[in-house]
Amino acid sequence: MSEDAIERESMEYDVVIVGAGPAGLSAAIRLKQLAEEKGQEISVCVLEKGSEVGAHILSGAVLDPIALNELLPDWEERGAPLETPVVDDQFHFLTGDKGGIRLPNFMMPPLMSNHGNYIVSLGNVCRWLAEQAEALGVEIYPGFACSEVVYNDDGSVKGVATGDFGVARDGSHKGGYTPGMELHGKYTLIAEGVRGSLAKQLIAKFDLDKDCEPQKFGIGLKELWQVAPEKHHPGRVVHTMGWPLDNNTGGGVFLYHFGDNYVAVGFVAHLNYKNPYLSPFDEFQRVKHHPKLVETFKGGKRISYGARAITEGGFQSIPKLTFPGGALIGCSAGFVNVPRIKGSHNAMESGILAAEAAAEALAAGRTSDELTEYTAKVETSHLMKDLKRVRNVKPLWSKFGTYLGVALGGFDMWTNQLFGFSFFGTLKHGKPDSETLRPASECAKIDYPKPDGEISFDKLSSVFLSNTNHEEDQPIHLRLTDPDVPISINLAEWAEPAQRYCPAGVYEVITDDNGDNPRFQINAQNCVHCKTCDIKDPSQNITWTVPEGGGGPNYPNM
Ligand SMILES: Cc1cc2nc3c(=O)[nH]c(=O)nc-3n(C[C@H](O)[C@H](O)[C@H](O)COP(=O)(O)OP(=O)(O)OC[C@H]3O[C@@H](n4cnc5c(N)ncnc54)[C@H](O)[C@@H]3O)c2cc1C
Ligand code: SF4
Repeated sequence: MSEDAIERESMEYDVVIVGAGPAGLSAAIRLKQLAEEKGQEISVCVLEKGSEVGAHILSGAVLDPIALNELLPDWEERGAPLETPVVDDQFHFLTGDKGGIRLPNFMMPPLMSNHGNYIVSLGNVCRWLAEQAEALGVEIYPGFACSEVVYNDDGSVKGVATGDFGVARDGSHKGGYTPGMELHGKYTLIAEGVRGSLAKQLIAKFDLDKDCEPQKFGIGLKELWQVAPEKHHPGRVVHTMGWPLDNNTGGGVFLYHFGDNYVAVGFVAHLNYKNPYLSPFDEFQRVKHHPKLVETFKGGKRISYGARAITEGGFQSIPKLTFPGGALIGCSAGFVNVPRIKGSHNAMESGILAAEAAAEALAAGRTSDELTEYTAKVETSHLMKDLKRVRNVKPLWSKFGTYLGVALGGFDMWTNQLFGFSFFGTLKHGKPDSETLRPASECAKIDYPKPDGEISFDKLSSVFLSNTNHEEDQPIHLRLTDPDVPISINLAEWAEPAQRYCPAGVYEVITDDNGDNPRFQINAQNCVHCKTCDIKDPSQNITWTVPEGGGGPNYPNM
């Protein structure tokens, strides 16, 4: 039999869910709760590409429990890992490498307050949600990366297929080769998080984004530290903006004290930045040396590192949520509230609402049609209210820069919160992030300080702390449409920015000793699955595809 003709086994479910993040797991739990309440049989499976649930989850994270209260109101008795309530909310504007001012809390619109929220490891929250889901009868399969959407003859989505195991780099089958499986569902919920690889295909195939603004993104880099006990302030939340980014580049630091002397510190850079010499990783390393931050880390130990893109388009960029046979939930649709840097509560809420729509459809004997009730539920939900009132913050920031844009965004949030009204209407985002780079010849190179090995580090020792592991002999999962583009176009025009925006050192331009004959090298085994290359490549020549299941980072508690 030829390698192409190998038959895949299939399994049938009522609902197939791709991704065991807060969205996918909340949908699974809600489906089973409804089945129990209504005496309905609903079979549900969740497929996760990480080696275990939580292995690929990276977030801040300050969790707004609004959706969790709805899903599992007794979460406290069930031992949910929400142990550190926020008690101190600080916001600083860094004016330079030494200076900064703390903004008084009364200036902040109340919707920005973290009162009532919890500092968590979202990975651990997902591990706990998975336990709750399994106790209700959900089948969860970690280590299964979904590589394809499978269609019915009428064009509706039939389910997904997981990738093959045991394929060598050249495409031949190794010993132990196992073909992927098909998982068929009456409905398939796509919960892959930001820039999902199947979501991207479905958005294109069903033209789901034809009536919305382009999705916008940031890259978030994060480290977990265990700090000296005297430096630890459980429940303290610190956000900064300004330095080291210039006025035209959005982003900032988050720093959360929680648990056993843990501090989660991270840096988000908006991916509509213009200077191709910018390196989000190096910006992150240098900002930790700012006097407002550095003392926290002295005498502490960095224990984990990772990165993940974050959706930033919000209200204007929400695509059509349904297609025949399924729906996009969570950050696959993009429900992050940018000024609050929060998306988990909305991911959970969207999962709950999609589950309710799917359960109603199944009870009515429907299959593989559009869950339009899901869209209707989202439109009247607190999720939409949350996104609508902050809808102009990101476009104002992008248009007017940090100083004026953030001030206008603050004003807009106040008017929205107090009067339910915006003077700006609904602003547009403009270009996708892949189109914002200026030619390298028009931009200044950025000279980053060398890491000191105590507070700041290099990329490779950082990637080591992400416990990233991929089977080496497998096809490269970062696909170039045209292998010549990185050198012939990207290097010439933008000094090949992939070398700098990739937070894991996957992309390198190698030259001879005399600096000639540049060639593009992809160290795919280092990839932490952040998806930034798929988003920011100015030639849109890189497609992120799933590697063999179980590969990627192994975050313990990010
Ligand atoms: C740096 C950073 C800081 C943040 N801080 C906060 C915060 O403080 N508070 C907050 O509320 N939100 C925060 N967010 C946003 C929040 O993390 C997301 O909104 C949330 O995780 C989205 O949940 P999700 O379930 O949609 O996707 P995810 O949490 O991304 O989960 C998706 C899951 O699907 C799996 N998957 C993807 N593709 C496939 C596939 N093809 N096959 C199988 N499995 C697949 C992934 O491995 C992953 O486990 C932050 C995000 C970042 C990046
Ligand atoms: S290769 Fe792409 S997805 Fe992987 S870590 Fe680098 S930028 Fe992120």
